[in-house]
Amino acid sequence: MKFGGTSVQDAEAMNRVINIVRRQWADNPGDRPPVVVVSAMSKVTDRLVETSRLAAEGQADQAAQIIGELLTRHLGVASTLVQGPALEELNALLTSDFRALETDVREWAAQHEVTPAASDVIQAIGELASSRIVAAAFRQQGVDAAWVDSRQVLVTDGEHSAALPDMDATAERVSAIVGSKTAAGQVPVMGGFIGATPAGVTTTLGRGGSDYSAAIFGACLDVDEIQIWTDVDGMLTADPRVVSNPLLVPELSFNEASELAYFGAKVLHPSTIVPAVARNIPVRILNSRRPEVRGTMITANGRGDGQALTALACKRSVTVIDITSTRMLMAFGFLRRLFEVFERFKTSVDVVTTSEVSVSVTVDNTRRLEDILSNLRNFAEVSTERDMAIVCIVGENLRSDPTLFSRAVTSLNTVPLRLVSQAASRRNITFVMRDADVTTAMNLLHDQFFGAKVGA
Ligand code: ASP
Ligand code: MG
Repeated sequence: MKFGGTSVQDAEAMNRVINIVRRQWADNPGDRPPVVVVSAMSKVTDRLVETSRLAAEGQADQAAQIIGELLTRHLGVASTLVQGPALEELNALLTSDFRALETDVREWAAQHEVTPAASDVIQAIGELASSRIVAAAFRQQGVDAAWVDSRQVLVTDGEHSAALPDMDATAERVSAIVGSKTAAGQVPVMGGFIGATPAGVTTTLGRGGSDYSAAIFGACLDVDEIQIWTDVDGMLTADPRVVSNPLLVPELSFNEASELAYFGAKVLHPSTIVPAVARNIPVRILNSRRPEVRGTMITANGRGDGQALTALACKRSVTVIDITSTRMLMAFGFLRRLFEVFERFKTSVDVVTTSEVSVSVTVDNTRRLEDILSNLRNFAEVSTERDMAIVCIVGENLRSDPTLFSRAVTSLNTVPLRLVSQAASRRNITFVMRDADVTTAMNLLHDQFFGAKVGA
């Protein structure tokens, strides 16, 4: 059970976490105890990044001031949740951790240098502190929890700020350290995002890395399910800013989640749950403010719940480039030449359609557009259209049910379509249209495919 920054943002949120864990465990008394992974309290990592920056600029006092503020915030939450000798012990630990960090940071500021390794030490304190508090709060409320130092469990390479796990070494430590706690009936509580090299040097997995930690630990423990508790109900059938009545997606495949994440519909980054999906462990997204909502389950294959499609997505403000050349007729090497231009100007292409003598592509990054166009004009006629958009329908069923495509096109009858493309995976169909038509198109499609069903 992984709880993100907003799910542990203050004492009230941490109390919700305790209730969620307790209730779930009580509902499944025969199960192994859950393993709890927490992020830093919300905004803490941002402030620590700022601390690094200030120290690198030599601003010792400003950096130390942030550390002091963060200590105060953590002590405040601790004193709301924990009492007596346990509170004294917790306060002493938090204080000594933050004071030690302050000493280090002042030294780094004096040298005007914060190495990537030092920056990871600074950022790690967020997860170390939040996990210590949550563990103590559990015990205060009678749950037998044990704090586990993730740096002793998650073994990584030395790529600071983007460390990769050594799964074999981590699995050994997980079963020795975490497994022994659960076997003894204790709830292990650990920080996400952080690890250490085999030599014990602190590392971090990259921003948002707590999901990755949860997937790594879950895979090593071969758990039944990984739960990512956040502050939204799960994935929706469409962006609520575009469609007025989106539904919750109850279940989707890992590949569908990846397609949707590409369009910005990301509640979590699918690549971070690869270790879990690779072992067929379902990952469920849940809302810690509304634990009664069933959330969204991501599995290797997805199963759907009878809906024809899984979700819709859109990407606004893209530019269409039409490239026409009679030389393309029966020529080879033309596409390569064309795409080399995009490569040279480091611009990625989203949708591509081709006919015998023309190619149309969309780009959303127009930084180097003028260079691209003038290079393309060396061998083709080129025109562009701005203020376009991509609308995409996603669903594993698109592979098996060819009528879904015509249903989609029919429902869009009043909307002028500029390009249409079906991915080779046939897990999505993409329409390119004027940006001005996106709201109409998305709502028409949503009514067509999700309209009949009520409630999520
Ligand atoms: N605390 C880290 C961050 O804000 C990791 C996480 O929350 O997943 O990026
Ligand atoms: Mg986070």
